[in-house]
Parts: sequence; C-alpha cells; structure tokens
Amino acid sequence: MEKKVALITGGSRGIGKKIAEEFAKNGYNLVINYISDGTDLKQLEEEFEKIGAKTLFIKTDVSNFLACEEMTKKAIETFGKIDVLVNNAGITKDGLLMRMKEEDFNKVIDINLKGTFNVTKNVIPYMMKQKDGRIINISSVVGVTGNAGQSNYAASKAGIIGFTKSLAKELASRNIRLNAVAPGFIETDMTEVLSDTVKENINSQIALKRMGTAEEVAKVVYFLGSDQSSYITGQVINVDGGMVI
Ligand code: NAP
Repeated sequence: MEKKVALITGGSRGIGKKIAEEFAKNGYNLVINYISDGTDLKQLEEEFEKIGAKTLFIKTDVSNFLACEEMTKKAIETFGKIDVLVNNAGITKDGLLMRMKEEDFNKVIDINLKGTFNVTKNVIPYMMKQKDGRIINISSVVGVTGNAGQSNYAASKAGIIGFTKSLAKELASRNIRLNAVAPGFIETDMTEVLSDTVKENINSQIALKRMGTAEEVAKVVYFLGSDQSSYITGQVINVDGGMVI
C-alpha cells in the first residue's frame, strides 16, 4: 500500500522531531521543515530510515509565504501528496509589554501565527483535491490562559486556536479535520533556558507535579492525525499534566 505522508514544520528537534518519529513509526514518509543548521540532518535521515520512513528535508522560514509555497510544491513533487500537516514551528521572545520591542511582537506573530497560515493556505488545495486531510496546529496552554511576560506568544497561540476552529468549520465538508494541541510545560530547548527555581515553581502548579515530555505530546498529535480520531475536529486538546483544569 502507498505510504501516507506527514509534513511537520520545525520537525528537526524538540516536540517536532518526536512528532516526526511517531508518524514514521506508524508507516508514514516525512517532509521535515527546519530553519537553522544546528541539526545533523544526515544522522536524522538515517534514524528515520531505520524506522522505515523516507524523509525530505526542506529549509524554509515559515514566516515567508512564497517560500512556503515552494516548500509545498517540493513536497508534492517528491511524494505526490500530503495527508497530514503539523504546524509545530514556533518561537518565544518573552518580556513584559512595557519592555517589549515592536519587532519582538511582530517576529513571534509572524512565525507562530502567520507561519501557520502560510503553510496551511498552501497545503489546503492539495488536501481538497484528495478530499482527505488532517491538520494539527501546535498551540499552548498559554494561548488558553494567558501568561504575564508572554503577551506576544499568548496572542499568537490564541490566534492559532481561532484559526483552527474556523477552518474546521470551513473544511469539514471536504473531509479535512483540524485540531489544536495545547502543550503545558514540556522538556525541550524552549524550556531548558528556565532556571531551576522557575521550573520548581511551575512543577508545583501542575497536578501531575512534573513537566511533560515531547513524546507525550507527539502521541496525542499522532492520534489526531490518525483515523482513531475520525469524529474529532475543531478541538483544542491540552497536554499539560493537569496544569489547567
Ligand atoms: P524548540 O525546541 O525551540 O523547537 C522549535 C522548532 O521550531 C525548531 O524545530 C525550529 O527549527 C522551528 N522554527 C523556529 N523558527 C522557525 C521558522 N521561522 N521557520 C521554520 N521553523 C522554525 O521548541 P519546542 O519546545 O519543540 O516547541 C515546538 C512547538 O510547541 C512550538 O510551537 C512551541 O510554541 C510549542 N509549545 C512548546 C511548549 C514547551 O514547553 N516546550 C509548550 C507549549 C507549546 P530549527 O530546529 O531549524 O531551529
């Protein structure tokens, strides 16, 4: 049987890499988008190959619409289709609003929210033609609750939720499902920068009293991309150890 294809933005490390692994383990070929040159792609390609997946790596800044159009075309040229899109690429540029520079607000919105639009807008026509598709957008609990010092990030992640819910309504008749995953605090490079005191303080506010792993997020993303979730669309699933109840 022809293999399914998953495109994962920011898929070369952190949560995105674990999501890619999960799809590879379940028989998918991969299109991995990335932006920086910090990852050994050859080694990563071999890792995915061992699990049975062919991988196309595409270096693209998701905040650039035309570059996302090119990326989508390359993915289609290589694999002929995209069954699952995971909009995972994201950044933080934290600070209280009083001190936040306009460029820090714009950058976070451009990559997190506009990037999600840029890739989705280019992938959707192919999914509509297939009359099949699943899109999982990575939001954050902060997009649900807000967080002091993260007004730009929270706005981008709340925007992703509105975008997801609207498109779930627009595209359901085309058999395209969209859902958002809202992780709490997950052990990755993004949270590695926090001090031990901040981490202890965060853990104390989580019902399960620990940070989550990228794998725990990846399993939920895979579920939403699979037929196991065939009656779920337009939802936000918190993966946060009970941080927000
Ligand atoms: P991470 O380790 O910092 O990885 C971020 C990923 O985004 C990297 O793969 C990076 O690519 C990619 N990226 C950044 N800017 C990009 C751009 N302009 N174009 C394309 N790719 C770009 O972060 P993470 O913790 O895995 O987070 C993944 C997602 O989960 C993000 O959307 C984040 O907001 C969300 N999230 C994380 C947490 C958490 O606690 N970690 C909590 C809630 C939500 P390169 O590797 O090429 O640099």
